Amino acid sequence: MKIIEILKRMFIERYCIVCTEPISYDKKEPFCDACLKDWEEFVSAKCGICGRERGSCTCLPSNVKKINHSMVSWCYFYNGEENGEINELFKNLKWNYDGRVIDFCTDKMKESLLHLCRSRGVNYKDFVVTYVPRNERNVYKYGFDQSEKLAKSLAKKLGIGVIKTFENFGTKEQKKLNKKERVKNALEAYEYIEDSVGDHKRFFLVDDILTTGSTMLACSYHLFKNGVTEVVPVVFAKDNFKIKGDRTNVKRNTKYYFTRTPKGFK
Ligand SMILES: [Zn+2]
Ligand SMILES: [Zn+2]
Repeated sequence: MKIIEILKRMFIERYCIVCTEPISYDKKEPFCDACLKDWEEFVSAKCGICGRERGSCTCLPSNVKKINHSMVSWCYFYNGEENGEINELFKNLKWNYDGRVIDFCTDKMKESLLHLCRSRGVNYKDFVVTYVPRNERNVYKYGFDQSEKLAKSLAKKLGIGVIKTFENFGTKEQKKLNKKERVKNALEAYEYIEDSVGDHKRFFLVDDILTTGSTMLACSYHLFKNGVTEVVPVVFAKDNFKIKGDRTNVKRNTKYYFTRTPKGFK
């Protein structure tokens, strides 16, 4: 991040979470006019696989369907680097800690999740939040764990508990591995913290971005093995660019995945 952006973040009360330009308090979304336009364009883009808009695209990687066939919560899909200016928001989420970015993301995550729970007749208060932790090496490198920040913020907004159930000492970089290797690598990378789930049976498993779902699958495996009966993956965005390469994905089960939040839903 440029030094000027760091200074802006320190001294300006309210700024655009994409470009850090100061903005007024009457703005509903934390974007300047230009970035709001980019955001609206981003949100209304159509999925290249199912043709639906970003918020209602139902494509999911097969790994995540193995965890839960009827409940997976996300807000938007994104396509790797093809997100235009809004890519800055994703970069901030991963690399530059900013409470306002986390706050924005968990507002959207809460909205999608509550809508999903309502449509399934599920009481979200029966759940506890846990998360896929960032690799220790990267926590050190970037100074924070974005999944932990998202999980804590989301749990607070929902008024439910949050438990750390995994350590991630990391092994290989997931990026360089194929689908099968990823699951195996993830299983080895995430270490379950003994007795951490306690008597809790239902978990919202939070991560920032869903790619192949292999880390989600690995963490769920550990949870199920330790007495948990239900895991609902909850992410801010899913990477459709990665999903596209997964041949067993989409269409077949699309009817299960309607997590779109209709306009005006509270
Ligand atoms: Zn802006
Ligand atoms: Zn789609």
